[in-house]
Amino acid sequence: MVLVALISGATTIAVLTRTRDELTAAAVSAMQSRIEALRHVYAVRLDVATTNLAGLVRSDSFENALTARNLEALRTLLGSYAATIRGQFAFVLGPDGKPFASSPSSLTDEADEDFSAAIRAQQAHPIPGSDPREFAAVIGGQAYRLALVPLPNHANIWVGAAFHLDDNAALRLKDVVGLELTFMARDATGRGQVSTSLPRELKSSLYGLNVAELTSGDPATIELGGEKYLTAAIPLESVRGRIDVIAQQPLRETLTRFAHLRLEMLSIAGAALAAAALLIVLLSRRALRPIDELVRAAQRIEQGHYGEPVTVRGGREFEHLAAVFDGMQKRIAERESRIVHQAKHDQLTGLPNRFAARMRLASLLQSGEPVGVVLLDLRDFKHLNASFGHELGDQVLRELARRLLGAMRAGDFAARLGADQFLLLLRGSTIEQAESTALQIVRGSRQGFLLGAIEVNLNVFAGLAAAPEHGTDADELLQRVDIALQETKASGARVCRYERGHDERYRRRLRLLSDLHAAIVGDQLSLVFQPKVLMADRRVRSLEALVRWTHPQLGAISPSEFVPLAEQTGAIGELTRWVLRSAIEQLASWRVAGLESEVAVNLSASDLANPELPDEILGMLARADVLPHQLQLEITESAIMRELDKSIRAMRRLRDAGVRFAIDDFGTGHSSLAQLKALPVDEIKIDRSFVRDLVQGTRDDAIVRSAVELAHSLGLKVVAEGIETPAAWTALLHLGCDYAQGYFISRPLPPEQVSDWIRELNARLAGAESGTAQVRVLTEFRSTRR
Ligand code: C2E
Ligand code: CA
Ligand code: CA
Repeated sequence: MVLVALISGATTIAVLTRTRDELTAAAVSAMQSRIEALRHVYAVRLDVATTNLAGLVRSDSFENALTARNLEALRTLLGSYAATIRGQFAFVLGPDGKPFASSPSSLTDEADEDFSAAIRAQQAHPIPGSDPREFAAVIGGQAYRLALVPLPNHANIWVGAAFHLDDNAALRLKDVVGLELTFMARDATGRGQVSTSLPRELKSSLYGLNVAELTSGDPATIELGGEKYLTAAIPLESVRGRIDVIAQQPLRETLTRFAHLRLEMLSIAGAALAAAALLIVLLSRRALRPIDELVRAAQRIEQGHYGEPVTVRGGREFEHLAAVFDGMQKRIAERESRIVHQAKHDQLTGLPNRFAARMRLASLLQSGEPVGVVLLDLRDFKHLNASFGHELGDQVLRELARRLLGAMRAGDFAARLGADQFLLLLRGSTIEQAESTALQIVRGSRQGFLLGAIEVNLNVFAGLAAAPEHGTDADELLQRVDIALQETKASGARVCRYERGHDERYRRRLRLLSDLHAAIVGDQLSLVFQPKVLMADRRVRSLEALVRWTHPQLGAISPSEFVPLAEQTGAIGELTRWVLRSAIEQLASWRVAGLESEVAVNLSASDLANPELPDEILGMLARADVLPHQLQLEITESAIMRELDKSIRAMRRLRDAGVRFAIDDFGTGHSSLAQLKALPVDEIKIDRSFVRDLVQGTRDDAIVRSAVELAHSLGLKVVAEGIETPAAWTALLHLGCDYAQGYFISRPLPPEQVSDWIRELNARLAGAESGTAQVRVLTEFRSTRR
């Protein structure tokens, strides 16, 4: 717009200026040619006048009248002559230079004087270069033109005619040349007169004109009576006084034409501007619409709506841009869905993750349908990873994921929640249906599968819950199925349904877990000791240290409850250290009291995996001045197997120092007796499940017998734990079991009772040679101690 305005403005100004100049120039040149015409007209007039004068003086009537000095006749002749030439008057000059006849005589005396003076001046000094017969002069303050012709037959007699340059003369000339004419006369005394063709009322303003300035240079524009005139002044050569002819051309017409032109030009410029404005609006609309569409598309993309294709009409560039936008939108949509997929899926198995599972469960619950929820847990998966490497671990997880998907029906949903946990959401399933699916999976995985050359048996556990009976909130259900899984682990079952009471136990477990550390450092733990009797000489040689926890609010807590919890959370190291230190200190104080004994301490799997443990134990022994062979460590086979290499290394180190090892709960693990050979142990403790109901000639009897035989053949001692009955005692005696431990002999004792108890039992049993006698002594002894 600004550009168009500038251009059209500049053009208009240029054209107008130029046009005005041209018009003015044209007016000036027209005026100059009129002035030229004026001169010409004047010359012709005077010529006519002088020619007529010559004719007059040659006429006989004039000659006769002159010769006869008939003034009357002369005057008549001069009068008619003056009328012919339209002169003011005609006259005859005598030799004295004074007119002696004139017609009509209109000059005043004073004017007469001027008139004679003018003629004398002309005769004495005619204006050089001009016709001496013609001249101008101010006479009596009035401008005149004069013509003067000598009479051929009369010396010093002249005939002349005078033309008064008055208003009429100006008007007549104006008619001929088309210019407003003004004669300005002024004589030496300052007297003067103005005659003009202009309206009378303008006369007074004509006096103010600066004539001198107008004479020089080009015509100037002057305003008179509200009108503009192109004005030029031409001095008339005058023999007396000064006469100027002022020629004026009204500029009205020129100016009107210019005004029309200017109006036209301005209208054209205005129209151009308006058209430009309109064009700009239209063009910018056209140009902006595609941009608007693109902006809208970008806003859609910003808000995450990628569905609508970006199309823009208008111009190839915009179509190209729209295509680029469209491509970008597709890429963003792809990437976003990939990121969303990644955020909702497990990278390893490709299954949805916990986040996605939670959302899915929430939406299933919202639909009100029943849902069966199965939480699967891989026991010992960490050890599988540690033993066979992560690659195999990953393969196992992928294979398990594949199997889970295989077991699914349409509408079911499988997710991986954590490293070794999977969740199934069974749409429309009752808890019974969920249980059968879970059992099928658990059994299938326990049967094992081949990965390359390796056969893997997976120890899978499952917790079960179902909506709506166990909750209608996703988080609640997920927590409850987790509680069910904990219950599965705690109870030793493979699959466990959630029950209302589980929450109680779960909360109790949580409470115990959080209080355990305080218990260890805060004197809530204590040790009790259960004697082991060497069957051969019936003397108590050793005591098993068993930990007790008296919780300030919950009372006595069984180690079977809190030891597994400690193992799960890693508090077990601290617990074991406490037990070891207390047991070793107890040994030291018994020795001071005169009791030489051995103590067995139970270790957990992770204890043996801790490479610092051997040195810690040896350090404690040394500090308490207790001999290493007074300490025995009990550990289960499965605990050893879990990290076999590390365990064996730790065991060797301690054993070299004199500490002895027993395999606890022998018979419950999976390892074969043959594997025992490789283990650096001194003793096996046959699990109490084989001992409790032991009667000679039963299946348990056969198992214990072969265990005893095998142990002995390997040079190991055999302990039977959990002897509760005389029958078991007798059977073990016959089987050649080395040590006996159980309620039949003694319950675990507080440390302060141990000394007396051992002394008394040893004394009583010393004389009991036969099995029957031993049984009687033990039974009696128990009843007296109760
Ligand atoms: P365990 O090592 O097999 O310990 C023997 C358990 O059998 C003890 O239970 C003991 O009181 C019980 N017992 C002894 N004689 C008989 C009997 O004739 N009949 C029956 N039915 N039971 C008998 P307790 O003290 O409740 O300990 C349970 C388990 O807790 C232990 O089993 C052991 O695995 C663990 N535990 C106990 N103290 C510790 C400890 O200081 N450290 C570690 N790591 N584990 C411990
Ligand atoms: Ca034990
Ligand atoms: Ca045991």
